[in-house]
Amino acid sequence: MKHKMPVHYIEKELCKGCGLCVYYCPNDVLRMTPRRNKKGYNVVEVANPQECIGCKMCEINCPDFVIHVIKKAASDA
Ligand code: SF4
Ligand code: SF4
Repeated sequence: MKHKMPVHYIEKELCKGCGLCVYYCPNDVLRMTPRRNKKGYNVVEVANPQECIGCKMCEINCPDFVIHVIKKAASDA
C-alpha cells in the first residue's frame, strides 16, 4: 500500500515568519527555520512531510498565501 504525500509549494520570499501555519498544522509537519528571506523574515519549511494529511490548514491560515498544498491521488487500491 502506497501513501502519496501531499506536495507543499512555499513562496519563501512572501513569508513573514508569523508561525501561524506551524501553529495550525495538526501533525507538526512544518517548522520555522533560522534562515531569513530577502525581507529579513524567518521562513517556514516542511520538516516532516510524511506526517502531512493534506488538510490544508496551513494554506488556509496563512495570511500571505505563501503555502499551497497539492494532494496527489492515492495510488493504493
Ligand atoms: S496540509 Fe495539514 S497536515 Fe499538511 S502541513 Fe498543512 S496543516 Fe499540516
Ligand atoms: S503562516 Fe504564512 S507567513 Fe506565516 S510563517 Fe507560515 S508561511 Fe510564513
